[in-house]
Amino acid sequence: MYLKSIEVQGFKSFANRIRFDFHEGITGIVGPNGSGKSNVADAVRWVLGEQRVKQLRGGTMQDVIFSGTENRRALSYASVAITLNNADHRLPVEYEEVTVTRKLYRSGESEYLLNGTSCRLKDINEMFYDTGIGKEGYSIIGQGQIDRILSGKPEERRELFDEAAGIVKFKRRKNLSLKKLEEERQNLLRVSDILSELE
Ligand code: ATP
Repeated sequence: MYLKSIEVQGFKSFANRIRFDFHEGITGIVGPNGSGKSNVADAVRWVLGEQRVKQLRGGTMQDVIFSGTENRRALSYASVAITLNNADHRLPVEYEEVTVTRKLYRSGESEYLLNGTSCRLKDINEMFYDTGIGKEGYSIIGQGQIDRILSGKPEERRELFDEAAGIVKFKRRKNLSLKKLEEERQNLLRVSDILSELE
């Protein structure tokens, strides 16, 4: 699996629709200060479902929408799409190529698409569990992140190893099952209360 392309429109400094094509191997993005290099990484973080505006270096989520320049009007929405080559099926879906799209309108309306079909953020999160790619994954290492990992709590570091070991999805399923079991236990208690009242 590898990142094939990123397409952005109206996202941060990218007013026009622009596509970055990547090939296997290493790609470097170079440019003067403030030219938008970090905005490319922000776009990837955002399309993968980042909800924390601080991580996107903004004050509100709407700050990711192109806010205009001296000679260009602000835009009404931001859109980012990333396409991953999934020929090895590391992502647990049948498609050989997977495109994830996120759109946000100034009105606050937003949507996620998986290969052009509307979906929930939950579906995207689940697809990326244990691949290292999700927004909590280790495939994007931001400035200062290594320091944070090294000086973080052992439990936080453990999360990183769980993701790399591929057990996050099982842990989530276990927690869901435990929650359901607890709900059923409460239901049983209620039933036995009612029964004892009837007796
Ligand atoms: P450096 O090398 O200094 O880290 P960089 O190339 O990584 O810089 P970025 O931080 O990616 O640059 O881009 C910053 C630019 O993006 C700034 O000029 C800023 O005005 C612009 N920018 C950020 N958000 C928006 C927005 N919503 N609308 C328009 N421009 C934006």
